[in-house]
Amino acid sequence: PQVGLIPVSALLKEVVLLTESEALMKGCQINLQVLQEDLFISGDVKQMKQVVLNMIRNAMEAISELEDDSMGRIEVGARKEGTEVRIFISDNGKGMDICTLDRLFNPFFTTKENGTGLGLSVSDRIIKNHGGCISVSSQLNEGTRFVISLPLIH
Ligand code: ADP
Ligand code: MG
Repeated sequence: PQVGLIPVSALLKEVVLLTESEALMKGCQINLQVLQEDLFISGDVKQMKQVVLNMIRNAMEAISELEDDSMGRIEVGARKEGTEVRIFISDNGKGMDICTLDRLFNPFFTTKENGTGLGLSVSDRIIKNHGGCISVSSQLNEGTRFVISLPLIH
């Protein structure tokens, strides 16, 4: 792994740019809300991109699994919280029930026909290896919010 200083806003912009057109085709709008431009974390930029990409993909899938075809919304952003950076990815997709919430970080747990169930377990490992943690809150038929907390470098 390549360890370096990562500008969070640039990382989020890049991943959003990468996923935007796919999202629009699936009826989701991605809104980037980086409130502070100069937040830095330390770590492997490729792994960090993979984590955010996984979460945006999950958000798109949660939106496309909804019955109705109203516009889906994905909010991606970052803010400083004391000595941490909090990166959030939230969606107004199908949400999760308690059973899913209990298991979503387990390797190979998936509710999708063609899912691998590896995205979140790998992401969790990557974030822990970077001294951080992931939290999630979700409500069935309302949406989901993932928050990644990582040590802020200053
Ligand atoms: P996969 O995407 O291959 O199923 P993941 O590890 O990425 O594997 O996710 C595991 C499970 O967690 C998904 O199958 C889904 O049930 C649930 N999940 C993850 N993200 C979301 C989300 N944003 N909204 C609803 N459910 C989600
Ligand atoms: Mg996934």
